[in-house]
Amino acid sequence: MRRTPIELAQGISKMIKDKAAVITGSTSGIGLAYARALAAQGVNVMINGFGDPAKIEAERQSIEADFGVTCIYSNADMTKPDEIGAMIAHAAETFGSVDILINNAGIQHVEAIENFPPEKWDAIIAINLSSSFHTIRHAIPLMKKAGWGRVINTASAHALVASPFKSAYVAAKHGIAGLTKTVALEVAEDNITVNAICPGYVWTPLVEAQIPDTMKARGLTEEEVKRDVLLAAQPTKKFVTVDQVAAMAIFLCSDAASCMTGTILPMDGGWTAK
Ligand code: NAD
Repeated sequence: MRRTPIELAQGISKMIKDKAAVITGSTSGIGLAYARALAAQGVNVMINGFGDPAKIEAERQSIEADFGVTCIYSNADMTKPDEIGAMIAHAAETFGSVDILINNAGIQHVEAIENFPPEKWDAIIAINLSSSFHTIRHAIPLMKKAGWGRVINTASAHALVASPFKSAYVAAKHGIAGLTKTVALEVAEDNITVNAICPGYVWTPLVEAQIPDTMKARGLTEEEVKRDVLLAAQPTKKFVTVDQVAAMAIFLCSDAASCMTGTILPMDGGWTAK
């Protein structure tokens, strides 16, 4: 039966209710917004990441209480392939499968190439890129068996353009764009889509925490730091919000997006249009 555009867009919760999602790096920021947005659509979620165990447990309980879904937590370290395999197996055991996989864990280090610590390079490549290879290789067989799947990778504007002093981050994010396209082609006939969202600057605790130090170091007001330092590259001069990024992920899970695969989607206030 033909569905109207509005029906396609509004049918999201009906379509993904009771499915299961794993979201890496979801104890804060964008990852937590993905987890809460999916849970709000009735999706059972596994959250993952580091932080204060009491706060993580409180967040886990609040997702269950607010949305009536099952929420479990994995402390798997995204630098450790064995732990990643065990995390996907734990989700599949608990939920029966992994229908939606969001690769989101990420770290940053900013330094000139000649001083860039090799161990930081290795950690960034492991967390921001290789962990997605491992989650994907374990999740795809489950999605093929279920006959449906969605893989969403949080890339960055830095998957499309570079900034100086971020060699490892930019290399990893360009890498995730390549991984996204390649896997999308491999599973194109399996009812599984694979896409990457490329946010510009997103207002997260990580970004917020940089403001007081930058105000002090440069003698600027809070507004000047936001506009002239943080948002210098972003033509709209507005931060992307975590909820806007999460809304794109929800859309990518819908039937309306089932023909979108292998895409590298900027959400960057015009940054990469320049
Ligand atoms: P954040 O620091 O709030 O979240 C990062 C998450 O990754 C946390 O849950 C953290 O515990 C987890 N993590 C870090 N190392 C880990 C490891 N070894 N194993 C498991 N989990 C680990 O940051 P965020 O701003 O929400 O960033 C989330 C993603 O979005 C990252 O991939 C980042 O590159 C990307 N991104 C962020 C922005 C931005 O402006 N904030 C812009 C573009 C892309």
